Amino acid sequence: MENATLWSRRESAIPRGLGMMHQVFAARAENAEIWDVEGRRFLDFAAGIAVTNTGHNHPAVKAAVLAQLDNFSHVCAQVTPYESYVRLAERLNAAAPGTTPKKTIFLTTGAEAVENAIKIARAATGRPGIIAFGGGFHGRTMMGMALTGKVAPYKTGFGPFPGDIHHVPFPAPYLGISEAESLLALERLFKVDIDASRVAAMIIEPVQGEGGFYAASPAFMRALRDICDQNGMLLIVDEIQSGFARTGAMFATDHAGIEPDLMTVAKAMAGGFPISGVIGKADIMDAANPGGLGGTYGGSPLGCAAGLAVLDTIEAEGLCERANEIGDRIVRRCEAIRQADKGLGDVRTVGAMSAVEFVIDGDATRPDPARTARIVGEARRNGLLLLSCGVRGNVVRFLPPLTIPFGQLEEGLAIFEAATKSA
Ligand code: PMP
Repeated sequence: MENATLWSRRESAIPRGLGMMHQVFAARAENAEIWDVEGRRFLDFAAGIAVTNTGHNHPAVKAAVLAQLDNFSHVCAQVTPYESYVRLAERLNAAAPGTTPKKTIFLTTGAEAVENAIKIARAATGRPGIIAFGGGFHGRTMMGMALTGKVAPYKTGFGPFPGDIHHVPFPAPYLGISEAESLLALERLFKVDIDASRVAAMIIEPVQGEGGFYAASPAFMRALRDICDQNGMLLIVDEIQSGFARTGAMFATDHAGIEPDLMTVAKAMAGGFPISGVIGKADIMDAANPGGLGGTYGGSPLGCAAGLAVLDTIEAEGLCERANEIGDRIVRRCEAIRQADKGLGDVRTVGAMSAVEFVIDGDATRPDPARTARIVGEARRNGLLLLSCGVRGNVVRFLPPLTIPFGQLEEGLAIFEAATKSA
């Protein structure tokens, strides 16, 4: 089988609306390596978009899922529940930031977790309004799109969206947006757009993922916590991309030392098995009436088994500490490249949520998405799978599994460095 043949079959069988970043069809994967259908090896700096933090086919995750498969694969938690659902909820309740008693519901995808967080926030407050941030990404369902702060390609042609969603700028000093400006925009919003007393919640990614790996500072997160408390709004933190050790802490919110009212989780929580969740303060989580929440596949037994093994692995392999070491190595290498490359405008990381931004002549206001795409392509030709992101399409994000051997990390960074030189 060849990639080119499969790609032409893909073109006639699958709609173009489903973007596919690499014309590389996977055959097999192990930890941080993927082999394609032609037998070529690639280093994986994408981790299935921040999902395989524990690597492809981690032995503990695989064993847990295989053991579960021997028992049953689906009975539906809403029909006959199972202990692993309860246990995973208990463990996440204990791991979530803050000391208020928590409850957790499991769903299937990130977008579905976001949908449910909004439902719960509205049920708990009796208010309609939701505030989200420019550049944010919250999924491709109707509410997910409405909350997402980027029009093309996510919203183009798909409206109308649910109403009463309001966006304010996300603080990103590199883009010229200060924290003070964001806070002022919130204040203005309450004057010109929606009374604060009608806002159910604000939702924020502590480190924007698709938007470009811009981090909200701990001080900014604390300021939002205060504004929510003063106005009876809930703070929803979307940890779908930043959670599960990626940022050097179990959750990125831990760096801010605040307690969210609700938190959405997915992706890395089960190392590749489709499960997501909403973790929140118990009284808020109980606001929705029995039967109001759920879904056929929510909290699949395979996802719960994998999720428990992922939590064990993060602890056993010290993946938070490892994330910091990985981020340090990425930053060191990229800062060295930047010395001689004016087009590498910014290098940033929180733990191992690392990214570089390509601009023209070191000018932050002149993004260079064309060079970014060339670098991603050149890296792929040399055996490294990278992902770009950012509202301006000029950011390369590094998302290797947190279990990657350091030798392979350096090997991948060398391929990236060579790609920046030739593209
Ligand atoms: N929120 C964030 C922060 C995300 O990064 C994503 C996925 N990239 C989503 C929500 C949506 O998750 P899913 O694709 O599983 O629906």
